[in-house]
Amino acid sequence: MKSFTLVNPTTLDGALEALADAMDRRGRSKAALLAGGQDLLTELKEHLAEPEVVVNLKGVPGLDAILVEGDLLRMGALATLSAIEAHPGILERAPALAQAAASVASPQIRSVGTLGGNLCQRPRCAYYRLEEAKCIKKGGAECFSYSGRNKYNAIFGGGPSYIVHPSDLATALAALDASVVVLTKKGLQTTPVERFFTLPSEGSILKETILKPDEILVEVQVPLDALARGSAWSKFKERASYDWALASVCAAIEKDAGKVKRARIALGGVAPIPWRVPAAEALLVGKALDEAVIAAACAEALRGAEPLSENGYKIPLAKGILTRVLRGLA
Ligand SMILES: Cc1cc2nc3c(=O)[nH]c(=O)nc-3n(C[C@H](O)[C@H](O)[C@H](O)COP(=O)(O)OP(=O)(O)OC[C@H]3O[C@@H](n4cnc5c(N)ncnc54)[C@H](O)[C@@H]3O)c2cc1C
Repeated sequence: MKSFTLVNPTTLDGALEALADAMDRRGRSKAALLAGGQDLLTELKEHLAEPEVVVNLKGVPGLDAILVEGDLLRMGALATLSAIEAHPGILERAPALAQAAASVASPQIRSVGTLGGNLCQRPRCAYYRLEEAKCIKKGGAECFSYSGRNKYNAIFGGGPSYIVHPSDLATALAALDASVVVLTKKGLQTTPVERFFTLPSEGSILKETILKPDEILVEVQVPLDALARGSAWSKFKERASYDWALASVCAAIEKDAGKVKRARIALGGVAPIPWRVPAAEALLVGKALDEAVIAAACAEALRGAEPLSENGYKIPLAKGILTRVLRGLA
């Protein structure tokens, strides 16, 4: 690990200032934000990130708050995953979010890992994590997974990189129509979760979000409406714990008189961003969730998938998980 200066601000403005101070004249950042450290410390140890300054957010009071204000859930960036999975208001009014948080890693990681860190964690592609491999996500010319080992990579939205986004909470929050609040030097900016994440073909290939190096994700907001109440989550992983999704599904369904009034579905583990499937959602609207409708929506959801040499299994897997989730919601 390269040595760095640790800065411990006690206010968000102080943290923003520390980030601004660490920008060089060309607008490149020499800093990294530290929350629970579950991902950042690995990145530092494996020389994937070599900041000169580490700005520790943990000293900023109140950033871990979880508040239910009427029909709005507000979660601070430092809220831990274990606090989210156990929060009574979330369990009752946005069950899929609690289920997604509970599916992450292990109790130890969830008790330290934060919401902001979970959404901003870096890819888990083996080539990205291998210090010696200068893949396209690290400024190299090539995505090695395209012609190499790609069992865990994307079947949607890939190219020129084929990572899948590792965050389970991102998938759930995309289905729940959540927004992220980012502190910039111009003030607070609120963006729908789906626009927060970027495909490798958009924005910078070196990043997964719109977040700039001198900005801080401070809060996530979720509407606690009928859609959130009718939400469910499921994830398939190779190991029982300590593992990311091979594929996951979050579906949120609002019903009226037994028929679907509104539907939002996001797939995880299949694309570089949480992958919404609007055509499958549209197919559900106005119908009862019977077996024929569920089968049609699942087929539609996976239409257009472009598997690589080793990950075609993700198509039937994601269909199976979506079937299970929709049957549960029926
Ligand atoms: C063995 C293992 C298994 C795991 N399995 C899963 C899994 O199944 N599902 C899943 O979703 N995750 C999984 N994870 C990832 C884990 O959930 C994340 O590493 C953790 O949530 C990161 O949170 P943190 O607070 O520790 O972030 P940190 O490590 O402190 O930060 C992570 C990144 O986010 C940036 N960051 C942190 N906070 C902010 C902020 N407020 N604003 C802007 N940038 C910020 C940091 O600079 C850093 O780049 C696993 C991790 C491990 C080690």
